[in-house]
Amino acid sequence: MSDHSGRHPVQPIAVVGGGPVGLAAAIALASTGENVTLVARKVPYVDNRTTALLGKSIDFLDDIGVWRLCADKSAALKVMRLIDDTGRLVRAPEVRFSCEEIGRAAFGYNIENRLLIAALEQRASECASLTRIDDDAAGIIPGDAAVNVIAKGGQQLNARLVVGCDGRHSLCREAADIAVERRDLGQTALTFNVSHTRPHRDTSTEFHTPSGPCVFVPLPDQRCSVVWVSRPDEAARLSALGDAELGRAAERQAHSILGAMSVEGARFTFPLSIERPARLAAKRIVLAGEAAHVIPPIGAQGLNMGLRDASDLAELVAECLALGGDPGSDDVLAGYQRSRGADIASRTFAIDLANRSLISDFLPVQPARAIGLGLIGSIGPLRRLAMREGLSPSWRNNLLRMM
Ligand SMILES: Cc1cc2nc3c(=O)[nH]c(=O)nc-3n(C[C@H](O)[C@H](O)[C@H](O)COP(=O)(O)OP(=O)(O)OC[C@H]3O[C@@H](n4cnc5c(N)ncnc54)[C@H](O)[C@@H]3O)c2cc1C
Repeated sequence: MSDHSGRHPVQPIAVVGGGPVGLAAAIALASTGENVTLVARKVPYVDNRTTALLGKSIDFLDDIGVWRLCADKSAALKVMRLIDDTGRLVRAPEVRFSCEEIGRAAFGYNIENRLLIAALEQRASECASLTRIDDDAAGIIPGDAAVNVIAKGGQQLNARLVVGCDGRHSLCREAADIAVERRDLGQTALTFNVSHTRPHRDTSTEFHTPSGPCVFVPLPDQRCSVVWVSRPDEAARLSALGDAELGRAAERQAHSILGAMSVEGARFTFPLSIERPARLAAKRIVLAGEAAHVIPPIGAQGLNMGLRDASDLAELVAECLALGGDPGSDDVLAGYQRSRGADIASRTFAIDLANRSLISDFLPVQPARAIGLGLIGSIGPLRRLAMREGLSPSWRNNLLRMM
């Protein structure tokens, strides 16, 4: 068996990257009982983003012992409203999704990323079969029987399977020779959190403006996180406002449904893009999270997809190891591509389409969008299907059973 360094024994699994997906993948893979090494520098979480964790993401975080550590810091999402605020001639009627309609107590829970990551870090530190190299990976060299991972500080290991959770500029993706198609959207998301004078009633409200959505997502108490997508110059202008002015601008954008708003803490901006790698796995390396898919923050799908990547991979690897197999084999890599490919491709396509239809000035697109949303809003079975598919891909299990 090839061991590039000649000195380092081959171990089963290494995970590169300590964002939410890397931490979740490392914990889930370590739950199989196999030794897992996480190569990730411990750094304080800096931005104020929150994540609306939907449906199966909560079940997964519960299964890996994370949800119990942060559930009390989250806010339930029971109703989702989509409001056409384009001011155009043809506007869609409001669409209102309620979790009761599909027999759930909540669609999911919104939590600040820094609190979710703290819970993931705590759980990772409790896992006996998880070791950590507190450093960045500087070199990833695939070989026939193992991948050599070299940390910046010089520490090395060889792993049969490397899980690349190293985000947008993924070194793992480059090492696996996987090309990526990248498209800048010419939009920027401004994020900040607010407290407000009227209750949110567990309702997330998405205003669709001609330059992108502006969404108010419940946080515990009378607070919301705001993701406001607009043109880069407009996002820069909003971001430069003082707290009181930004609070007033947010209240205006929300048509005062949450009353007066006070901005809490800092604000951050995120230029938006769509990234599609040509494959999800090659050369004993699989990609998960933003290394595998980048989409704009519409419908709260990004990290939810990343958690499904981690969950599905852990399942495939557990099955393989139970049969005494090689977790970096072509079979496992092909199984991962089958299990995640369709979900990632279809969601990226749908979110891209939803975003394009919103910002397009092309006249025929507007009635089509209004009719589509109108149908979803008014036809019960279609609305329920949209709600279930928003939570997780229900068709996927049936499809996998057929393969
Ligand atoms: C404004 C906004 C709002 C969002 N809201 C939601 C939402 O409500 N719901 C949702 O599901 N998703 C949401 N998302 C998407 C979500 O934030 C991302 O999908 C998620 O953060 C991706 O996590 P990740 O772990 O894949 O990547 P990252 O968080 O980027 O983590 C990658 C990690 O890898 C590390 N790394 C990089 N290179 C190396 C290396 N060479 N060696 C070791 N480590 C390395 C980095 O330091 C980083 O810690 C939102 C995104 C934006 C921009």
